[in-house]
Amino acid sequence: MVAAHGIHKHFGTLHVLKGVDLMVAERELVFVIGPSGSGKSTLLRCLNRLEEPSSGSITVDGIDMLSRSTDINAARQRVGMVFQSFNLYPHMTALGNVALALRKVQGKSRAEAEARARAALDRVHLADRAGHFPGQLSGGQQQRVAIARAIALEPRVMLFDEPTSALDPELVGGVLAAMRELREDGMTMVVVSHEMGFAKAAADRVVFMADGLVVEQGPPAELFGAPRHERTRAFLGQIE
Ligand code: ADP
Ligand code: MG
Repeated sequence: MVAAHGIHKHFGTLHVLKGVDLMVAERELVFVIGPSGSGKSTLLRCLNRLEEPSSGSITVDGIDMLSRSTDINAARQRVGMVFQSFNLYPHMTALGNVALALRKVQGKSRAEAEARARAALDRVHLADRAGHFPGQLSGGQQQRVAIARAIALEPRVMLFDEPTSALDPELVGGVLAAMRELREDGMTMVVVSHEMGFAKAAADRVVFMADGLVVEQGPPAELFGAPRHERTRAFLGQIE
């Protein structure tokens, strides 16, 4: 579903991604971990073309994401993204926030956008909060609205960048549950997160990044249970 090869990214003189390869199969949930500053967010942003890689190739479901002939808006719609900060519009209801992209990006009528938005909110169990404003929702509910907003556009893959890092501990579970259901529905997912329990329970593969490179990767039991590289061992030792 996702094939990224030899991704390099420079910010001025800073060489942030140094030749990253990332393959993600359809329906796979790949977890990306690594120290702060190792390039995890930059990699996700390159996959979504929020950043332009300096070099390398990226295809999503067979579409060349970096080709000049690929429409960038169509390309971005194939890749949904959820951030640490939910970025909902405070003056719009949950339904309005989800419907907005359907109207603006996909040109749906108000009625169709709202019907799809309701269905997306239902998938994250927030159908009964459709008329609430973000300020009337918990952080976990707001993040689920952000997930609904992304899935309403029917992406082929979903990227999550530390989706629970801004949440109070008691609100984390509901967001992880929504992600897990999405995965059970067959969504292809790349998740950057520190929720190691979730990685152990739900990830097909864990990728460890450091200094702009993939150091090692494998099934969670292998990577957590028997890391091969000293750098991985040091990182896992720190976070436990
Ligand atoms: P991570 O998500 O693993 O913590 P990031 O991808 O956010 O790492 O950042 C990797 C490096 O790239 C950091 O040194 C960060 O300061 C730098 N960086 C990220 N975005 C930019 C940018 N827009 N301009 C300059 N430097 C950036
Ligand atoms: Mg980051």
